[in-house]
Amino acid sequence: MEKIGFIGLGRMGRPMASNLIKKGFELIVHDVNAEAVDVLVNLGADAGSSVADVAARADVIITMLPNSAIVAQVVSGVDGVLSTARKGSLVLDMSTIDPNTTDAIAADCKARGVGFVDAPVGRLATHADIGQSLFMVGGEDADFERVKAMLEAMGSTIYHCGPCGAGTRSKIVNNFLAVSLCQLNAEALTLATGLGLDIESTLDVLYGTTATNGQLRINWLQKVLVGDTSAGFTIDLAHKDLTLVMESANAAKVPMPMAAAAREAFSQARARKFGGKDFSAMLDANCDAVGLEPPRLPQGSRHRT
Ligand code: NAD
Repeated sequence: MEKIGFIGLGRMGRPMASNLIKKGFELIVHDVNAEAVDVLVNLGADAGSSVADVAARADVIITMLPNSAIVAQVVSGVDGVLSTARKGSLVLDMSTIDPNTTDAIAADCKARGVGFVDAPVGRLATHADIGQSLFMVGGEDADFERVKAMLEAMGSTIYHCGPCGAGTRSKIVNNFLAVSLCQLNAEALTLATGLGLDIESTLDVLYGTTATNGQLRINWLQKVLVGDTSAGFTIDLAHKDLTLVMESANAAKVPMPMAAAAREAFSQARARKFGGKDFSAMLDANCDAVGLEPPRLPQGSRHRT
């Protein structure tokens, strides 16, 4: 069985690495946060002393990091993965980043005889916890086959979208819809609150029509509407994704007025110190901006899951 290096053990990387260990894979892990490493070591992983150490000892190196600059630094930078990765090893980047960075890293890997697959993650952090994530994969057929068992250990739905970069590009399209819906939901429920409507009857109506959406129906019922705004997926990361959407759209000369408006609404929420909260807390940011108490479902509500 191939040895896996796992770099980036945050809200997503931690459960993904845990699920690999539970399915019998041997892991060498690294994170700049030592506490995150300890959690995985207690589950049976080996701790790498640095990025370069992990890459030297692993056959497949998985990265699950916040943004483009960090992934580029960790893979291609000084003392990065490619400084020690063996010829024939493979980098599997699962972060959500700019497609041009994905292409550049894939080219750096190819130049060193190292394979590359991009496989960003769909669905919520709670899906990652229970191994039910969706993966959108970009890579050569043989490289996809090589990492398939690892993806199956971390998720339940896998789509091979095309060559290197197709996974990252699919993720940008997906997150445009998922993240923009948060802002639409926030405006709708802030308006309902401002109009004095009851949250439960408002949801009855919205769930009964074509206004239904997965954010409002799944994530919001588990998070902001029951008062839990701890980070599953932060407003900061959602803002980063809408920025990736705008940059990709601009490069392709595709105008996206709704994406631009949603991105700026997330910018306002960050300026008001909501950046570290779950992206469903766009509701609280919108209500806060207009001086309204954000609605919460009462105990015993028919909408509580
Ligand atoms: P996170 O901030 O919780 O975790 C990132 C981890 O990377 C942290 O533990 C941090 O210490 C570590 N890190 C940062 N720089 C590092 C470096 N140079 N070397 C080693 N470790 C480093 O973020 P997350 O929520 O786990 O998200 C990770 C990626 O997955 C992001 O690109 C995000 O957009 C994407 N994503 C998140 C979700 C979600 O629901 N949270 C869902 C799908 C995709």
